[in-house]
Amino acid sequence: MKAKNWLWLGPDPELSDDDWRRRLGQLKNAGFDAILPEVFNNSKAFWASEHLPVVAPVLERLIPLAHAAGIEVHAWSHIMTCNIPDVMEAHPEWYDVSRKGESTRDKPPYVGYYRFMCPSRPGVQQFLQTRMKELARIEGLDGIHLDYIRFPDVILAEALQPKYDLVQDSEFPEYDFCYCDLCREGFREQHGIDPLTDLEDAPASDAWFQYRCDLISRLVNEDLTPIGRAAGKQMTAAVFPNWRHVRQEWHKWEVDAVLPMLYNGFYNEDLQWIGEHCASGNARMQDVGVSKPLYSGLYLPDVPPEQLQQAIDVSMQAGAAGVSLFSQGSLEEGHLQVMQRYFG
Ligand SMILES: [Zn+2]
Repeated sequence: MKAKNWLWLGPDPELSDDDWRRRLGQLKNAGFDAILPEVFNNSKAFWASEHLPVVAPVLERLIPLAHAAGIEVHAWSHIMTCNIPDVMEAHPEWYDVSRKGESTRDKPPYVGYYRFMCPSRPGVQQFLQTRMKELARIEGLDGIHLDYIRFPDVILAEALQPKYDLVQDSEFPEYDFCYCDLCREGFREQHGIDPLTDLEDAPASDAWFQYRCDLISRLVNEDLTPIGRAAGKQMTAAVFPNWRHVRQEWHKWEVDAVLPMLYNGFYNEDLQWIGEHCASGNARMQDVGVSKPLYSGLYLPDVPPEQLQQAIDVSMQAGAAGVSLFSQGSLEEGHLQVMQRYFG
């Protein structure tokens, strides 16, 4: 089967149509088949949204330009994170609450933009469905790409912990979500106990772990994916290799493809590790009877041009259907040459 290759990129509204044509032509030459423009970055939209703050309708402009170059367009949207001031003001209850009792709205963990919303909230579900409906209506759009479709990392990737002066050798309460009243009530209805007050060691509870994985899977499978699918859009997701730490059972998701972010540098790992995670991701999907393409997500700042061929090799040999590169801003001429030799 022919490989399919993707590129995450920022939809710079200042670029002219001619600039885009030139870039898209280069990408096509280098063997890219699809671009993932970041059309919702957790605070602003890059299409003519009627319910979100809009920068400019870049997405609508990009679609015909990309199609003319023979490239698919997949709208990349952050999902659970929301830093829109009006939303934060009007719906404080929409935000995840930690085991310590703090809301991500008031005290986002790790970084200022980590304001994750709670998947149990009907208002959040409707808010996200409205976005899916708007994107699903966009003519010619090939797909919708779900990112930040998870809980905050209860344990950060190893190489990131020192950046925040952290040693996370267990699940600390201030990074463990969501203990809002709705999530606790939902768990109590199923299991008869309150995860906050009745569990002696909440991180050790398989049932509570599973309950939160299921909240995200349900949102993906029942609320979001069907909307895009009904409009003929391919549904894909950017997912974590350390899926347990973000409660992200993506092997059970009914999406059309998964793009695991195999950012080896974040985990102090080498290129072989990328292949191991392509293989284990495919195996986990197979275990639950799911068969869909997995595209190996590579973090270009940690994969210089001279390492790209090996990163592609280990991915493809381990069963990836292609690669997805993060991101255009770090894409060097040398990367393009390697891609062209391999796929062009
Ligand atoms: Zn909650």
